[in-house]
Amino acid sequence: MVNQINKFSRRFFIAIATTALVVACSQSSEPEATNITNTENTEKIGGQVNIYSSRHYNTDDQLYDGFTEQTGIEVNLIEGKADELIERIKTEGANSPADILITVDAGRLWRADQAGIFAPVESEILTEKIPAHLRHPENLWFGYSKRARVIMYHKDRVNPEDIATYEDLTDPKWEGKVLMRSSGNIYNQSLIAGMIEEKGEEATAEWIQGLVDNLARPPQSNDTGNIEAVAAGIGDLTIANTYYLARYEDQPEVYDQIGVLFPNQDDRGTHVNISGAGMLKNAPNREQAIAFLEYLASPEAQEFFALGNNEYPVVEGTPVNPVVESFGEFEEDTVNVSAYGKNNADAVKIMDRSGWK
Ligand code: FE
Repeated sequence: MVNQINKFSRRFFIAIATTALVVACSQSSEPEATNITNTENTEKIGGQVNIYSSRHYNTDDQLYDGFTEQTGIEVNLIEGKADELIERIKTEGANSPADILITVDAGRLWRADQAGIFAPVESEILTEKIPAHLRHPENLWFGYSKRARVIMYHKDRVNPEDIATYEDLTDPKWEGKVLMRSSGNIYNQSLIAGMIEEKGEEATAEWIQGLVDNLARPPQSNDTGNIEAVAAGIGDLTIANTYYLARYEDQPEVYDQIGVLFPNQDDRGTHVNISGAGMLKNAPNREQAIAFLEYLASPEAQEFFALGNNEYPVVEGTPVNPVVESFGEFEEDTVNVSAYGKNNADAVKIMDRSGWK
């Protein structure tokens, strides 16, 4: 069941059966004349925008409030799991009140794209500010923050000089030392899908086999579970997103044991994934939806959006959480993230075949 949230007490959002009705309890959507802070807008647009989001971070409130302040556009929010929201938008069809879908992982954005629910958005602001590899080739969705999937190691048991790439994890010297979560998780599926795009299926299958051969235990748990298992000595190395380690900042028994290594700095770069958003095909409030997508690329929004989950902003010059910054700078893989969706089925197939369950 999708949670309906009206954090902003501006309007109520009521969905009846498969026909969704937006009931405006207040008509106070007149643009306000003061406090225009966005230099890109000369006047407030007003109206409303209906956002379906699978994100739920504290800073998102500030994000939506900042948007309303700048544009006079009221935000109606429905939160839920990505696949449920995609299903809901499909079911609502032409009557869907949804203007925007926000979700994490390019693989999920690709699923939404395959469901045919997005509309392309031509915006100079977005194409200038968001690097081409972090948005859909036809601008059906845009990445607004990045997460880096890195190698994490136990500082006492691994010399970081001994490992530089994802490929190095298959070295026989790490036999029985590598911890991975299950293949059902989209983060690893996207990592593998990116590798298929750049190295081909055969080389990727070989890498997976080597990785499986080095596992300390059958694939299990999640990123944080495996970080804790490295700290506890169950294995020496794992692959995880940096924001998960940032969550342990106040737990030295874990945090102080773990080193971060950005893989493949001398060739294709470290695998990154995105949180992103797109305008929906049946969006009733298109002008407001595009204004929202452009707002997300503003310095203020970039800061809130990235800090919400200790991710990296996509627009240059935006501050990063100091803990995440302390992990260091890195070169990222610039393969278009849409490849993670395109190659997802092949990635899952190869993982299954090699025994990465
Ligand atoms: Fe996550």
